[in-house]
Amino acid sequence: TEKGKMINSGKYSDMLSVDFIDKIDEVSDSIKGSVNYHLHDWCISRQRYWGPPIPIVYCEKCGTVHVPEDELPVMLPNTDDYIPDGSGKSPLAKNLEFVNTTCPVCGGPARRETDVSDNFLDSAWYYLRYLSPKNRSVPFDDELVDKWCPVDMYIGGNEHATLHLMYSRFLAMALHDIDFLPFEEPFASFRGHGLIIKDGEKMSKSKGNIVNPNEYFETHGVDALRTYLMFMGTFLEGGDFRDSGMDAMRRFLNRVWDIATMPEGKSSTELKIKMSETVEKVEYSINNIKPNTAIAAIMEFVNEASKETSIERQLVIDMAKLLSPFAPFVCEEIYSMKGGKKKTILDDGFPYGYEKYASMAKTELPVQITGKMRGKVVLPQNASQEKAMEAVMADEKLSKMLEGKSIRKIIYVQDKIINIII
Ligand SMILES: [Zn+2]
Repeated sequence: TEKGKMINSGKYSDMLSVDFIDKIDEVSDSIKGSVNYHLHDWCISRQRYWGPPIPIVYCEKCGTVHVPEDELPVMLPNTDDYIPDGSGKSPLAKNLEFVNTTCPVCGGPARRETDVSDNFLDSAWYYLRYLSPKNRSVPFDDELVDKWCPVDMYIGGNEHATLHLMYSRFLAMALHDIDFLPFEEPFASFRGHGLIIKDGEKMSKSKGNIVNPNEYFETHGVDALRTYLMFMGTFLEGGDFRDSGMDAMRRFLNRVWDIATMPEGKSSTELKIKMSETVEKVEYSINNIKPNTAIAAIMEFVNEASKETSIERQLVIDMAKLLSPFAPFVCEEIYSMKGGKKKTILDDGFPYGYEKYASMAKTELPVQITGKMRGKVVLPQNASQEKAMEAVMADEKLSKMLEGKSIRKIIYVQDKIINIII
């Protein structure tokens, strides 16, 4: 019954039992492999003051009795005496005014349950309550649940992946089984965000290296802090918080402001091509939870824009739209300054209309000759192999290398590489 090597099992003898498990379906048609999952018993009662009282009363005659629905919820009593005293009993047990009650069945004397339920119990279904937080007649509104649930994506710390999310799924499945929910899985996907460290070390009170955001609000501004947090590392892996990075982010936002206050006028086609690339990169990055690459793309745009002497108003507005999820305050300001048509930048949608410039975008194509890197050529994006070869032959250095040689094969990966075998 332990793990080990199979014995007396015909052709399966000597196989490791863990490997045999995968083969069990082969043994006989009547045996089918399956995986069983078990959940440890989950004790939801807590001996502390803070929590939702468990709505149960104990009567000597009637036993354990539910508090009737019209008396719910049982409210915590107001008291100064809420510290547990080490006796193992809930602090509520000392509050006789709370404890002593009447039995809902026989009307005789009864005692209330004094434990409260664990906050994990309620955090396991809060996503349902959030849809209708003010509705006092039901825990959650079915119509709103149908409209919004299940949750498309859950983003949280990785510590959620094994506890909270498991409880949450467990509760959803239980609610589903009693026909309270139309689905079993409450969250379609989960992404665990990374951990932010400071100067290479984990933040902790004892090391005294905790970052207090408020200080940076004063010195660098909220936008700089928000944008830096999204830029300093990948969202899923976290990053290293450095003051020098905060300074650089502040300078970047100053440059954004400089672009926004440049004289209005014509912009070059190159800058519009850059904007078309930026729109595409930011859209891709946001959809893939890569805020750092979105911000990097906007930085590239700002670099290009600052080489020009004037800028079209729409380009400024669109730059602000792309940056506003990260630096909402300065972008809202820019939007309003540039006469944005909506009340807020949030209502004005994603930038559009740059598609025609996308086809004009250029790409640098690395050129290999028989597997060795020999140079690069600049091409319009999505160029054909013929166009790529034309560019290679137009390059003085590359065409010399190919002079008098017969080309045996060309391996061309559009926008990525060309390898000419001679
Ligand atoms: Zn009773």
